[in-house]
Amino acid sequence: MTSDNTKDAKNQVLNTCQDMESAKLVIGSSGNASFRVEGTDHVAITPSSVDYSCMSAEDVLIINMEGEVVEGDRNPSIEHPLHLAVYTARPDVNAIVHTHCIYASAMAVLRQPLPPIVDEFVIRLGGQVEVAEYGQPGSEELAKNVIEALGERNAVFLANHGALCCGPTMDVALYNALLLERVAHIYLLASAAAGGKKQLTTIPPDAIETQAQMFELMKRMKKR
Ligand SMILES: [Zn+2]
Repeated sequence: MTSDNTKDAKNQVLNTCQDMESAKLVIGSSGNASFRVEGTDHVAITPSSVDYSCMSAEDVLIINMEGEVVEGDRNPSIEHPLHLAVYTARPDVNAIVHTHCIYASAMAVLRQPLPPIVDEFVIRLGGQVEVAEYGQPGSEELAKNVIEALGERNAVFLANHGALCCGPTMDVALYNALLLERVAHIYLLASAAAGGKKQLTTIPPDAIETQAQMFELMKRMKKR
């Protein structure tokens, strides 16, 4: 029988996919989201190839940490090895949002890390956002490269692909994805306005340090 926690996890994934589409972070069935089912070692994850506009909570899959389907009739997202690798490496992460949004993807194509150029960035994302080396979608290589580049932060670019954001709750993971897209947009606009002639200035080192401490504090406070 489906537990309340499983039902809640499925609804969180569904609502987030619809929010991702409304915010133009993805189109059609691209990108994906997942959420740890509280009190279990299961994960609720987007099905493969189902448009978000017609997805229902029953379409969301429940898988175990080996990637086997525990509940649901569809196939899990091709990127489930990536999601499971992040959950294994990061016990503080309960939610993951993977997007193909325009400005973050442009950074991923440029293979350009995103430095802390505005306030709030380090508090939410943990520091400069790095670029994971290329790996084919769904591959163990991609999962390994993402874990390496993500480190203890809450966002990473996937070379020539898109971005992945995470957090202790689904709301935080989605917020982080929106923030990353916004700051990537600002970075690209400012770089273009400078004609590529000027290195953009980050927030000062002491502000980076203070905000990094707040990030660590928030990480500890938001544990389940
Ligand atoms: Zn993708």
